Amino acid sequence: MMKNKLLKHGLLVSLSMLASLNFTAVQAFESSFAIAIHGGAGAISKSKMTPEQRQAYEAKLKEAIDVGYQLLSQGKSSQKAIIAAIQIMEASPLFNAGKGAVYTFEGEHELDASIMNGETLNAGAVSGVKTVQSPIALAEKVMEESVHVMLSGEGAENFAKKVGLKEVENSYFNTERRYKSLLRAKKKLIEKDKDFQAAHQSLPLEYKVGTVGAVALDKDGNLAAGTSTGGMTAKRFGRIGDAPIIGAGTYANNESCAVSATGHGEYFIRYHVAADICARMQYQNIPLEKAADVVINKILVEAGGSGGVIAIDAKGNIAMPFNSEGMYRASKSSNGQSFIGIFHNE
Ligand code: ASP
Repeated sequence: MMKNKLLKHGLLVSLSMLASLNFTAVQAFESSFAIAIHGGAGAISKSKMTPEQRQAYEAKLKEAIDVGYQLLSQGKSSQKAIIAAIQIMEASPLFNAGKGAVYTFEGEHELDASIMNGETLNAGAVSGVKTVQSPIALAEKVMEESVHVMLSGEGAENFAKKVGLKEVENSYFNTERRYKSLLRAKKKLIEKDKDFQAAHQSLPLEYKVGTVGAVALDKDGNLAAGTSTGGMTAKRFGRIGDAPIIGAGTYANNESCAVSATGHGEYFIRYHVAADICARMQYQNIPLEKAADVVINKILVEAGGSGGVIAIDAKGNIAMPFNSEGMYRASKSSNGQSFIGIFHNE
């Protein structure tokens, strides 16, 4: 009798162990998903930011991350999620992308954007476009409906017409705040030096940074990254930054990670920052956080390049290091973690 009871008990224990094992297996089988976004590496100091400004940035970041996260939770692709999140920031005057983009030296706006799909390694990019309302949407069209990776200027705008994307006047991107910033930058350029390049190089960081971007992992385990920007204030001679350069400002590969960068673009191009982080992870077999930290806080710092990245790996780990004073950023994961912040130690 006793033996029977013990046997029965043992069976129950084994069954419940099996059930819990099974439960664990199901849990592990369900892919986790996550998204991270940035609204640019900020040069604004914590003490100068008013509570109202902070609240406005945080509210917009929250809106963008929530929209991307919701798409992921509905089973939509990481590509769709990052585009939706980026388009919310492109439409906001707060960020240097789309509406709110900085001015060129000549007083116009020239926009750059790129996107990469980590499953297919397909990519699309546009540079120097002036009349396309959503540069990230055009980058996606280049990726999906052209045989090329990067289109520029007028050609890219003609392609946008062909694929039916919304056109706007260049003045659609105007904001008073960015115009004042151009006037200040030009004053400094004229005062400083006759050599435009050297003078521009010595402009303070606030004129060189600001961009939006997103990276995500979807329920199917696919990564994607995208970046959209107005570039640098008072840029000239058709200057293109890192944002539309695959491997520099944007990179995604399911084998390693997805990255979107923001910062002084010339350094991000020369140090191929986004691809370097993913390559270090893959070839050195180190965690995402470590790879991103070395590139942003050691290599770039030693080189003199300011900025940061948002990055995500195929397991949904997120890293958001930056070496500038701040970086508008947010993340949300299916494991319940979410974050919105601007400065260090937040
Ligand atoms: N990286 C962008 C550029 O150099 C600017 C930024 O991200 O802040 O055009």
